[in-house]
Amino acid sequence: MTDDERDSRSIAITQLLGAAETSGEINALHRVARRAGYLWRCPTCREDHYPNRETCCGKPRPHTT
Ligand SMILES: [Zn+2]
Repeated sequence: MTDDERDSRSIAITQLLGAAETSGEINALHRVARRAGYLWRCPTCREDHYPNRETCCGKPRPHTT
């Protein structure tokens, strides 16, 4: 993934989550976004992160989620 792709995915998921109104919608977006590679989940703290974030808990972003 290029830096531009990473940035545009981060912008896209930010806009989608900004338009979500209920926790059910937000949860569904997170699930779909992780599957599509728009978010990645830290295996240590299980937080979801945007693709332009490189590390969490002192560890690099895993290549696959
Ligand atoms: Zn973490």
